[in-house]
Amino acid sequence: MSKNIVITGARENNLRDVSLSIPKDKITVFTGVSGSGKSSIVFDTVAVESQRQLNETFTSFIRNFLPKYERPQVDAIDDLSVAVVVDQKPIGGNVRSTVGTMTDIYSVIRVLFSRHGTPSAGTAAAYSFNDPSGMCAVCDGVGRVVALDLDRAIDWTKSLDEGALLLPGLSVGSWEWSLYADSGRFDRTKPIAEYSAEDRELLLHGADFKVRLQLKSGSADMKFEGIVSRFSRLFLKRDTAAMSEKRREAAARFTVDRLCEACGGARLNEAALATRIDGLNIADWAAMEVADLVEVLGRIDDPVAAPLAAAARERLERLVGIGLGYLSLDRETSTLSGGEGQRLKVVRHLGSSLTGLTFIFDEPSVGLHPRDVGRLNELLIRLRDKGNTVLVVEHDPDVMAIADHVVDMGPKAGTDGGLAVYEGPVELLKEADTLTGRCLRRRTPLKESFRTPAGWLPVTGADLHNLKGVDVRFPTGVLTAVTGVAGSGKSTLVSGVFTEAYPEAIVIDQGAIGASSRSTPASYIGVMDTVRRIFAKGNGVQPGLFSFNSSGACAECSGRGLIYTDLAFMDPVTTTCQSCEGRRFHDEVLEHRVKGRSIVDVLDMTAAVAMEFFEDKALLRKLRTLNDVGLTYLTLGQPLSSLSGGERQRIKLATRLHRTGSVYILDEPTTGLHMADVDTLVALLDRLVDAGNSVICVEHNMDVVKRADWVIDLGPDGGKHGGEIVFEGTPRQLLDHPESFTATYLRRDLAA
Ligand code: ADP
Ligand code: ADP
Ligand code: ZN
Ligand code: ZN
Repeated sequence: MSKNIVITGARENNLRDVSLSIPKDKITVFTGVSGSGKSSIVFDTVAVESQRQLNETFTSFIRNFLPKYERPQVDAIDDLSVAVVVDQKPIGGNVRSTVGTMTDIYSVIRVLFSRHGTPSAGTAAAYSFNDPSGMCAVCDGVGRVVALDLDRAIDWTKSLDEGALLLPGLSVGSWEWSLYADSGRFDRTKPIAEYSAEDRELLLHGADFKVRLQLKSGSADMKFEGIVSRFSRLFLKRDTAAMSEKRREAAARFTVDRLCEACGGARLNEAALATRIDGLNIADWAAMEVADLVEVLGRIDDPVAAPLAAAARERLERLVGIGLGYLSLDRETSTLSGGEGQRLKVVRHLGSSLTGLTFIFDEPSVGLHPRDVGRLNELLIRLRDKGNTVLVVEHDPDVMAIADHVVDMGPKAGTDGGLAVYEGPVELLKEADTLTGRCLRRRTPLKESFRTPAGWLPVTGADLHNLKGVDVRFPTGVLTAVTGVAGSGKSTLVSGVFTEAYPEAIVIDQGAIGASSRSTPASYIGVMDTVRRIFAKGNGVQPGLFSFNSSGACAECSGRGLIYTDLAFMDPVTTTCQSCEGRRFHDEVLEHRVKGRSIVDVLDMTAAVAMEFFEDKALLRKLRTLNDVGLTYLTLGQPLSSLSGGERQRIKLATRLHRTGSVYILDEPTTGLHMADVDTLVALLDRLVDAGNSVICVEHNMDVVKRADWVIDLGPDGGKHGGEIVFEGTPRQLLDHPESFTATYLRRDLAA
């Protein structure tokens, strides 16, 4: 069997006929600036072709249920193995998905409780909050209940006649309002606050009598229904999926999410919660930090239970091993960050005994403090040593260091990239004359002088999640880095507490841009109207013709360029539209040209090329903001949905650059950035600060910490061992700190 995956003539996206050999059963790290083509090789070529070929091995019946992949643009890929992509797409999942269910550890623990706990509630299913035999009947195993918020539903100071009932459909004069006002049971001119306890109970929950109402069509006897019962019948007991958007919004406006009183949030019924092992029930176990649960399991020595306990423990130790020991099994997966999600997925794969696979990772170091990168590396090495091929897209030199083989993409981004500029061992990369090689050789020094804060934005007594009554001041007019190991409380402090206290702060995150699949960089930065006007004027036609959302659209795909096939239980599948071949416009539009180029040609231009092409001043100014954030390699018409998290964050930044006096909050802005791009980013943040803004970054990258004016370091460790301020001050002062992990790695970085 061949020892290499051999790629010949890859041409996806910006790749320029790339041919490569990737050694099997080894770790290969793909490096290069963002937009150089790393993902195009690894995800769009290797992973897609593997999935496609794998799907072809199934019968046509099964194939109907699988996503359809188009053959990537590549001449050949030989000796490919089955690829497993471990990316940072949020795990999402509904409220029933927790760390415990997703890793399957909870199911082992359920078996343990059913066999070893006393008194037993029955089989393992009796401990499942997703099974009727185990779930709390009041909240259906969700742990929370949605209830009407009376203070939003009723204006207590008003009477029925004055419009005390604020719920939809109950406006004064409506027949539904008459049900209360004309019931004869209430003083319709008395403020609700002054009602007797009985009257109040009647208004809220009354039932079992009828009210004679005068309707246009005559009189009728209507059943009385208290407003709480009415609301829950109309809005809460319904299947929300079947409710209209408007109704759902209305429901959300008048409800609060409360802990379920019956189970106290434990999700389980009384029988399940009564079972104990060593004095603790299964909900107590699930609420414990994983690292502590490992110890509890270690104390179980009963010969029947010990093997199960050992199995659960082994899995939990993998979580600890990857730096997630601060999570608890009951944590809902929808609240995890992309990096945490990716590491959980790694744990799941490590548990599998399949070998001979190709694992593909997308910047697995995201969210990890340098201290924890070592643990991540161990996991990657273990995957390889089990007999798998490991491909990693990564910017962190500490991860590059464990590579058996490196492929450096470049020389630059977009059309200036798309080549493999270096292939070989990591040691020689350090000497290579490529951007990555040069960056590995250089050292960023600590900043010489630090800006003096203009003022302070205090936060006091912060106690959300793991924060231990934190008092801290965020300086204004400077660049602040918030540091600390994963789980120490950085996001909680910044995104949770600070933004709550200072809602005017501008949060620039990596989340999806709230725009449709039709958005492009050009529409996002607001140049499309001008572009269309230029085309319309030059050709004496209507601007709408140059919009794929309007009269210019290809009729077949309605201007999407793609045909979507929605598969209920999988990612939707897209194929290129046959009619316009992905161009999105109908053919006639293409005949109208400006300087010899059609609208499709223009949308295919990178921002850099467009800056040469156009002359309109306002348009150029907007394009230049893309240059400021290092995104000129994007084409004007590429779907925003194809951008990485880091790119999304930077394009959001691009549209907000020209403000002053604002507070900006960025969560790990170096995600997806090559060392060379980090310089551009820091220069940009510096410009924001120099223009009179304050910038606060949650960041692990030492090159950013070294360029910051102020550091707030959280810790000392993760979860309940964190949540305190370890250090506040300048990076220079941080250097001398005896305990901070960040200080340790800052010293290491400067000594290297
Ligand atoms: P990297 O992974 O190195 O950041 P990518 O492989 O994602 O780079 O991108 C390489 C080039 O291809 C970039 O210019 C990028 O904008 C472009 N590109 C990536 N995906 C798409 C897409 N779906 N449509 C058009 N262009 C794309
Ligand atoms: P960092 O940003 O430093 O990695 P976080 O602020 O994400 O740390 O987490 C700090 C602590 O708060 C951890 O113990 C984490 O498990 C907990 N935590 C964070 N988000 C949530 C949440 N939505 N629900 C419950 N606990 C949370
Ligand atoms: Zn409950
Ligand atoms: Zn089409």
